[in-house]
Amino acid sequence: MPQLDIQEKLAILADAAKYDASCSSSGTARRDSRGGKGMGSTEGMGICHAYAPDGRCISLLKILLTNSCIFDCHYCINRKSSNVRRARFTAEEVVRLTLAFYRRNYIEGLFLSSGIIRSPDYTMEQLVEVARSLREDHDFRGYIHLKTIPDADPELVRLAGVHADRVSINVELPTAAGLARLAPEKDGERIEGAMKSMRMAIEDGADSKKRFKSAPSFAPAGQSTQMIVGADSATDADIVGKASMLYDRFRLRRVYYSAFSPIPDASAVLPLRRPPLMREHRLYQSDWLMRFYGFAPGEVAAAADPAGMLPLDIDPKLAWALKFRESFPVDVNRAPRELLLRVPGLGVKAVDRLLKSRRWRRLRLDDIARLTVSIVKVRPFVCAEGWQPTLLTDRADLGAWLEPKTNQLELFA
Ligand code: SF4
Repeated sequence: MPQLDIQEKLAILADAAKYDASCSSSGTARRDSRGGKGMGSTEGMGICHAYAPDGRCISLLKILLTNSCIFDCHYCINRKSSNVRRARFTAEEVVRLTLAFYRRNYIEGLFLSSGIIRSPDYTMEQLVEVARSLREDHDFRGYIHLKTIPDADPELVRLAGVHADRVSINVELPTAAGLARLAPEKDGERIEGAMKSMRMAIEDGADSKKRFKSAPSFAPAGQSTQMIVGADSATDADIVGKASMLYDRFRLRRVYYSAFSPIPDASAVLPLRRPPLMREHRLYQSDWLMRFYGFAPGEVAAAADPAGMLPLDIDPKLAWALKFRESFPVDVNRAPRELLLRVPGLGVKAVDRLLKSRRWRRLRLDDIARLTVSIVKVRPFVCAEGWQPTLLTDRADLGAWLEPKTNQLELFA
């Protein structure tokens, strides 16, 4: 590997980390200010944003320890056979960079991942060393998110949780067949075994903390994972089922969905085109339905078409409501919270405010309109004081009627 200075390494290893979606947002237009035109960029890398357990949005230095790897996962730009410029930080360099950025107030924490060098154990030791040194040698109180390597010694993976706020172990692909085809060196059972051990360690840590205030924290922000969408033939129903299983079995804080993006010098087994970014968005919406709206995974899957794919033109909650119209209209003055949460256009906050308001008086459609962004979407699915949707709920063209209208953008704006 050629000798690189710290800035060159930072440019390579921050760029290589941008493919990890676990703490980033995506789906916006590409803009930059290269060439001195304008200000700002949506394509930058190096600093990303995440939400701390108390809900604060924090900026993280997001880098890889190295983009060299002994594995050859087809979808990964850092795979062994990829023709990219390689770089590697030492643990000490990452510690120094993190502290320097933190002191300048550029960041409030670190998101660190890595390709696998020498062996999973060796790489995991290096990742843990960064977190250990930050915490123990420098008393670093900022946020640390470590990606762990499921093939590493379980004790090393556990140590990641001792020093980091959040740990993540990527399942990579939604199905065992997809993993075997696209990441043949990875083992689904080992990945889930590592998640299970992490869950137990997190629960033990939380339990000790409850009993003894002085007990050390263990991964207080929990564990998360990431699934790549569109690189294999898994349907949305497969992905929703897998995510639900992961939430249930391993008590994950988040499952991140990352739409596969074609990489330079791509392997021939990969699709040539990326899936629509809207697919990723619809999966996040269905994830929300399961976590906050009381939908069972089978109900979300029922909103999909016969091929198991969620519609792209309407959100999955509306798709479900249109398919199961016999569940509507819902009486906003009498229905329990769980039924109100099924109404398209009513979010969790709106439902909670609605429940408070109806203690004092019977609600009319105007009252609901004040709680929601789109009363047009809500109207066919509710009855209120003075409002019955009558035939509206059963209109054959209701889907087209509620579909968001597309706006023609100005060509020369
Ligand atoms: S192990 Fe990780 S870094 Fe290495 S090729 Fe696979 S996905 Fe990429």
